[in-house]
Amino acid sequence: MSSGIREENGQFKVEASLEFCNKTVARQEVLVQKNVSSDIFFYDESGEKEISESPARGKTPVAARTGENRENDYFESYESKLEHSVVVSSERLELSKSIKRELKRVTYLTLKKATGKELPWGMLTGIRPTKIVHEMIEKGHEKSRILEKLTQYFEVSGEKSRLAYNIALVEKPILDKSEKDKVGIYIGIPFCPTRCLYCSFTSNPISRYKDYVTLYLEALSREIEMVGHLLKDLSLKAQTIYMGGGTPTSINSEQLMELLAKTEDVFCDGSLEEFTLEAGRPDSIDGSKLNVVKNSKVTRISINPQSMNKETLNVIGRSHAPEDIIKTFWLAREKGFQNINMDIIAGLPGEDLEMFHNTLDEIEKLNPESLTVHTMSIKRASRLNEYLDDYELGKSELVSGMVDAAREAASKMGMHPYYLYRQKKILGNLENTGYCKPGFECLYNVHIMEEKQTIIALGAGGVTKVVFPEENRIERVFNVKSVEEYVQRVDEMVERKKKLLNQLR
Ligand code: SF4
Repeated sequence: MSSGIREENGQFKVEASLEFCNKTVARQEVLVQKNVSSDIFFYDESGEKEISESPARGKTPVAARTGENRENDYFESYESKLEHSVVVSSERLELSKSIKRELKRVTYLTLKKATGKELPWGMLTGIRPTKIVHEMIEKGHEKSRILEKLTQYFEVSGEKSRLAYNIALVEKPILDKSEKDKVGIYIGIPFCPTRCLYCSFTSNPISRYKDYVTLYLEALSREIEMVGHLLKDLSLKAQTIYMGGGTPTSINSEQLMELLAKTEDVFCDGSLEEFTLEAGRPDSIDGSKLNVVKNSKVTRISINPQSMNKETLNVIGRSHAPEDIIKTFWLAREKGFQNINMDIIAGLPGEDLEMFHNTLDEIEKLNPESLTVHTMSIKRASRLNEYLDDYELGKSELVSGMVDAAREAASKMGMHPYYLYRQKKILGNLENTGYCKPGFECLYNVHIMEEKQTIIALGAGGVTKVVFPEENRIERVFNVKSVEEYVQRVDEMVERKKKLLNQLR
């Protein structure tokens, strides 16, 4: 393995290559700073021909992803997600994976040396670092060996290694209990009161989509019914339901009642263990909607402040005040909700540590059953990404301090971390962590992250993930994102799922 680094026009160019018998078998070039480009070339054993043919999909060029990083933040958000489509055999695939990993490692080490900076998750750029821990546990490795591999090979900090390990231990019994005939159901409601600054979800301001809500709910009801038949045919049962979006409580009480009734009718039988409803925005919830939800089979709701600072809520485009969050939370408690999650974000524009502590203090007073701490990430489809220069985002050190403070606050509330994921362009190269009190782990969240169970997604923008455990294979099928198109093409969305799900027979 060899590597080199050059500085050209204020950018780093890293070249890493792997040689075998004096022949280059793989080479990677990464340009790091304002524009990041990453190309990977695979050669056959002779070192002469580029391997670019996928027997499964015909001629496909070796693919590479490119991304764009903000100036001066080149290392914090360094990402080099390499993809390729060389599928020859599982041994070959393993070899390709190892080569990619080695190239990534040498690139990381070269950058670390050149800049003197280290990242909390080291060379790991994937979304699900806990998967590595699960794989090692399955192979029978001891805790010490797993932590050693994370810190010594992947260059993950000791603290993040322990976090990933501890979370994997909490997740394991949930994953082990997962039965072959159980699936998760996701139902998306793509409407919100307003669109948040950082949002990249399928979400439309409900006031502008008034005319479409009824049509959308009719189409969704049709999809629910058809997917219900599909599950029966395949002898599959829903273990969990997650109704998100968007904000499902944006629709009115009658619409919500009908939707919940239809969902229960089709998917809720003795097998259902959990039903989450995102009541995310306090400006979408009132007493009558909470009554509807309380009288349904929903077992867990989410009321998401994101921040308890009025100025920040204004900046991020949420049309509610911190007092509305507090009022809604206590109203939900009054109505008898005993499993409430709250989401917050570390690193929101303009927030300092004191403001973040204020959010944590307010949440501690409310004392929910679970707290999800997201780290701000710059999503491609968000308004924030479009107007990035207009906002002051937290530097790595500050955001890292916020994440630490959240961990301490969660621990004070008697919570432990139970799931974790990372995102592209996440500030400080950090992570999102779900904390909960014992027994309040959200099963759906664990399953969606660890990808051991099939998740069937309904509604605009839904992504169905079918897991074929014997083949160690995951296939995805997408619903269209646009509400208008979804309404017109709902039958086609079901057909797509049917084709893929039939392979489970
Ligand atoms: S509440 Fe959630 S889904 Fe709705 S706009 Fe905000 S981030 Fe997007």
